[in-house]
Amino acid sequence: MSPPSVRIYEVAPRDGLQNEAAVVPTAEKGELIARLAASGLGDIEVTSFVRPRWIPQLADAAELVGMLPRVHPARFWGLVPNRVGLERALESGIGGIATFLSSSETHNKKNVNRTIRESLAEIEEVLGVAKEEGLRTRGYISTVFGCPYEGGVAPEASLQIATRLLAAGADDIVLGDTTGMGTPLQVERVIAILVDGGIPLDHLAVHFHDTRGTALANALTAWRVGVGTFDASVAGLGGCPYAPGAAGNLATEDLVYMFEQMGVHTGVDIDALADAGEYAAGLLGRELPGRYHQYHRGARRRAVSRAVTR
Ligand code: MG
Repeated sequence: MSPPSVRIYEVAPRDGLQNEAAVVPTAEKGELIARLAASGLGDIEVTSFVRPRWIPQLADAAELVGMLPRVHPARFWGLVPNRVGLERALESGIGGIATFLSSSETHNKKNVNRTIRESLAEIEEVLGVAKEEGLRTRGYISTVFGCPYEGGVAPEASLQIATRLLAAGADDIVLGDTTGMGTPLQVERVIAILVDGGIPLDHLAVHFHDTRGTALANALTAWRVGVGTFDASVAGLGGCPYAPGAAGNLATEDLVYMFEQMGVHTGVDIDALADAGEYAAGLLGRELPGRYHQYHRGARRRAVSRAVTR
């Protein structure tokens, strides 16, 4: 039941950088993406086609996508908030788009100032057009495992949304634990409800946050019940917007290390990936929270000091 190989969907260039105040130059983002792709990652979310004023860090979306090679083993993805964003994504020539909404009414309202019903209507249109244009598509559902405003969220709410997204043309449904509230047994329960409700396991992906330290345990649980696609961010890049300084995205190195050591194929070279994490830390000029990333930095520092004292 547990997949012998998994797909890792890298989110650092978009989800990771999005909350960074200091704007990273476009060429350096391109270099980070190239290093991530060179490590073997097959899917990388590189930017967002939101209105440039909303997120200045990602205002260079079209220019960045234009820099990336047209033909590449890695598939590049962009986040799309609405029809206007989709038009920008199509013009850029990107290969995949991701839409988003929350399964909690309050969170959706605070995030995009719309009801779930309003969001769904536009997303269905976006997904339909994207499929007609031959793009790969994914639909993020946020707050599946808990909402910072409402607390618990009924899995049935996520099932209803997932059913509509699939019918509208989403290739993958991504279950997001937006503020890292989920626990392993809950992950098992929610996925069972979705699968019983008709969502095929091979169309499910998970996006966990390590805010309270449960992300890797949640990922392992999702894999054990049959999920094969996992979102992660190199070096754990991307803080949690609700708790400054807290860990956010699950670190890609931690996930790749765990799977590879268990004999589960990821297609990613951990050393090349760790080097990409070093590059990301250098770009931002500070420590990043990923555990393997920190171990790797420590090991390198020890190697350097041995070489100096010898
Ligand atoms: Mg995230």
